[in-house]
This record gives sequence, structure tokens and C-alpha cells, in this order.
Amino acid sequence: MPDPGTEQDCLFCRIVSGEIPTSIVASNASAIAFPDIAPQAPLHVLVVPRRHAPDVAALAAEAPTVLADLVALAREVAETEADGQFRLIFNTGARSGQSVFHVHAHVLGNADLGWTPA
Ligand code: 5GP
Ligand code: ZN
Repeated sequence: MPDPGTEQDCLFCRIVSGEIPTSIVASNASAIAFPDIAPQAPLHVLVVPRRHAPDVAALAAEAPTVLADLVALAREVAETEADGQFRLIFNTGARSGQSVFHVHAHVLGNADLGWTPA
């Protein structure tokens, strides 16, 4: 039986469980951080809650302390892997660019970032 809060066919649940190996950058009780497979900035790390939720709005409603822990881990990654400054992106819905429906924050940094989403 899978743990409660995990989904068998979810890519990020399989990474969180260790079934799909990745290089863990940092972790805490609620979330793990690992490099994006297709980086869009010199620092591009995904921060993923251990608990499955489809998007950030669902996670905020279901488990706000997990979302707070996720943001704390993003800050820790930015402090250890960059200069502490970072952009945190939660694509929410396919039209916004979400392709994996297990909530994840993109942590971008180590660059002077532009602002041209559309
Ligand atoms: P989204 O498009 O849902 O906001 O972000 C999903 C991100 O997951 C993309 O930036 C994509 O490059 C990344 N990604 C997809 N599959 C994998 C994978 O197997 N491993 C890692 N590390 N990143 C992945
Ligand atoms: Zn999942």
C-alpha cells in the first residue's frame, strides 16, 4: 500500500519516495529540493512537498504549514546555492505552464532575471 497522500502514477510522488532517483539539494520534514531536469536559469531547483497536492492553491487550503515549510526550504536553497535572492514560481494550471500536477515551486536565481511571461 502506498503512503497516504501519495499517488502511484505521479512523477514527483515517485521522486519523493526514492523510486526515481534524483540529486537532493536540500530537504526538511515537509519538502525536498532537487535540480530541474531542464534548467531555465543558472540556479533552477524544484521544491516539492512530500505530500501530494495538485497545485499550490490546493496545498494552501489543505496543509498551510507544509506550504510554509516549502517556502522556508526555497529560501534555504537560495542562501546555500545563490546569494539569497530568488524568484519563486508556482505554475498553476496547464495554461500557466504547469505540466506536473504535484505542486512544486521553481526556485530561480544566480542571474539578473527578466520579466517576459507573455
Ligand atoms: P511545470 O511545467 O509543471 O511548472 O514544471 C515541471 C518541471 O519539472 C519542468 O521545469 C521540467 O523541466 C521538470 N521535470 C520534468 N520531469 C522531470 C524529471 O524527471 N526530473 C526533474 N528533476 N525535473 C523534471
Ligand atoms: Zn504526487
